Amino acid sequence: MHTRRHRHEGITRINSKVARDINRSIILSTVRRRQPIPRSELAAITRLNKSTVSTIVARLIDEELLVESPDHGGGVGRKRVNLSLRQGKHFVGAISFDAPCTRVAIVDINGTLRARDEIWTKVSSPETLVAQCVARLNALRSTIGPHKFYGIGASVGGIVDSSQGQVLYAANLDWNKVDLATLIREQVPDVEAISVENDAKAATMAEVLWGTHRFTATNFVFLLIGVGIGAGIAINGRILAGDTHGAGEVGHMTVVEGGEQCACGNAGCWHLYASEQSVVKWFAEAKKLTPGAPVPSSLSDVADAAHTGDADALKALRLWAQHIGVGIGDMICILDPEVVIVGGPITQLWDLVSEDMTQAAQSRRALSRQRPTTILPTSLLDNPPLLGAAALSIRGIFADITISM
Ligand SMILES: [Zn+2]
Repeated sequence: MHTRRHRHEGITRINSKVARDINRSIILSTVRRRQPIPRSELAAITRLNKSTVSTIVARLIDEELLVESPDHGGGVGRKRVNLSLRQGKHFVGAISFDAPCTRVAIVDINGTLRARDEIWTKVSSPETLVAQCVARLNALRSTIGPHKFYGIGASVGGIVDSSQGQVLYAANLDWNKVDLATLIREQVPDVEAISVENDAKAATMAEVLWGTHRFTATNFVFLLIGVGIGAGIAINGRILAGDTHGAGEVGHMTVVEGGEQCACGNAGCWHLYASEQSVVKWFAEAKKLTPGAPVPSSLSDVADAAHTGDADALKALRLWAQHIGVGIGDMICILDPEVVIVGGPITQLWDLVSEDMTQAAQSRRALSRQRPTTILPTSLLDNPPLLGAAALSIRGIFADITISM
């Protein structure tokens, strides 16, 4: 009897702690989404009782996660107080590993980049690159004050087992089975939360956490288009990992049977027609036919030319948009997503590519589809894989965010 009572008390204690943690993250997430939010409305919105809300809010203010400010919009009567996430107190370190450029940043809980730096990714050992990144992060941290990192997140263009913090394969970096979380932890033993994830999946998390698009974030695709192409595929509120962590490697879907040879061993892979390099290559090929014309070498060269009305640049961009749309259309057929969000430098050219991309995608959609899937540029204000790296670390604060990994 005695033992039984103890067990019962133990269970109650655990349950009340779990409930407190859940309520805490519900409050934090509500403030994040609606800030500044009148303190008096928090109970009604969260449907928690007022005393629970005020106990948790007091604690969150103590922990310097929330801050109160006067509401100047209120009329006469009782003074109203707004709550917001506190800026400038909690930071995470973010590293986006990729070639030719690895980015590091310090990001606050609102998803604002407070300091950033870039490292030219030379062919070096993962140990050397990680040590360089951590040294840069520490240097950046010293510029913003004596703050400890809440965590460090790393995103990688490659296949990642996030549960083990291991990069299984990253072609651009020439990495095979790199224990990235361990390498980072060796450099920063005082930081508890270290997360590693594929760049597109991490960017998906950032869009949910800090993006401003209005969608349910239950079934959607985040398509990251850069040097390669990857996708974060959210199904029923979870980002799909796949049986061997390879879900979302859509850049290697075959879109042109018998097409160009890919380094993966197949031919006609989507990224050979839809990544950044393809449009640069097509434009360069066209320009080579014009004697004396400078040969473009980057997406911004294509963009600059397109904005001056260069017919070759516009033609290359249209072709690019159509190829991207074809792959998006296939994903829509398979996944029936609410929305497809596109991230990467292409979003800076959205006005030039969106129409062709959407048309190519819609023309392939399944007949059963009740309404066309919206294709939107990311609403993230900075580099998606870098914000994704930060989101990996920070999502622990907002444990109730609707999407999980
Ligand atoms: Zn391939």
